[in-house]
Amino acid sequence: MKIADIINALENIAPPVLQEDYDNAGLITGNAKWDCTGVLCSLDATENIVDEAKALNCNLVVAHHPIVFKGLKKITGKNYVEKTIINAIKNDIAIYAIHTNLDNVIEGVNNKMADKLNLINRKILLPKENMLMKLYTFVPVEQSEKVRAAMFNAGAGFIGKYSECSFNAEGKGTFKAGDDTGPFVGEKNILHEENEVKVEVVFPSYLRKNIIDALIKVHPYEEPAYDIISLSNEFVKTGSGLFGELEKETTEDEFLVMLKNAFHLTVIRHTELLQKPVKKIALCGGAGSFLIDKAIAVNADFYITADVKYHEFFDANNKTVIADIGHWESEQFTIELLHEVLQAKFPNFAVLKTKTVTNPVRYFV
Ligand SMILES: [Zn+2]
Repeated sequence: MKIADIINALENIAPPVLQEDYDNAGLITGNAKWDCTGVLCSLDATENIVDEAKALNCNLVVAHHPIVFKGLKKITGKNYVEKTIINAIKNDIAIYAIHTNLDNVIEGVNNKMADKLNLINRKILLPKENMLMKLYTFVPVEQSEKVRAAMFNAGAGFIGKYSECSFNAEGKGTFKAGDDTGPFVGEKNILHEENEVKVEVVFPSYLRKNIIDALIKVHPYEEPAYDIISLSNEFVKTGSGLFGELEKETTEDEFLVMLKNAFHLTVIRHTELLQKPVKKIALCGGAGSFLIDKAIAVNADFYITADVKYHEFFDANNKTVIADIGHWESEQFTIELLHEVLQAKFPNFAVLKTKTVTNPVRYFV
């Protein structure tokens, strides 16, 4: 098992192209070509986590937060970032971060939070736009099924929870093969008409190369014709935040107790309760103030997030209840998520969850 195999499994779920511009997800120390001795999953990659990985004989730490965010000009060990990097490099430990790309997929950080509240009818709160493309290709009728299947296999044809979606219309294609050709049907220098199917499929833009490669590999023609266009549709499987509904309507007080228990909270900072029943819940792990308006727009009764500043609490405007549960607290189950993803893919490999609590915040109650 190479470290690259672990990275591939993670990036299948959360492609790195989905990370935000400011982010630094990916391999931070180490080398993807190394043999992997074991994986330690954590929320942060601190010096203690590197020590823990070393003690457990894991040479890969998979963390949600990148330990390095900005450029390091000197590495002398004067702060926790430099200390961690030195510790990792000295001990040949790779650190891999899967950050906003894991926030931005429907199966990611927020989905795990929604699991803890048993939310149903989950949707992305702010779907990404301009991420979808459509491909049209023209295939002889007989070969159309094979071409469709190859594109589906490469990741085309997903619309919401439906897979293998395509549209197919039969028509006549024409072509005249030139001198240096070996046409699949017809003869050189003679205009040929062929019964073809125009196959249409949608796909996320980051899979463009995979889909074209798959198409070219199985398409019978020497020069397969295909068109690709960008769509401005929302891509409902990627984006920020999530909203859903409780199975049963409850009261605000009961919901706060449920939230406190589900996330093992000491304290919840929240805005004024609205004396309304609670059914719709919006949430975003980590710093989520940028989605307060979106939570209000979907009529969420509660918006659960973290790192809300004093003035941002006013933005609730008595239209929702903002509940700040703490950054570490909101994302703690990401460790479980990473562990589950890797264990499902590599059931016989050492994939471990950290026992170190990296939360730098303490509460005096
Ligand atoms: Zn975070």
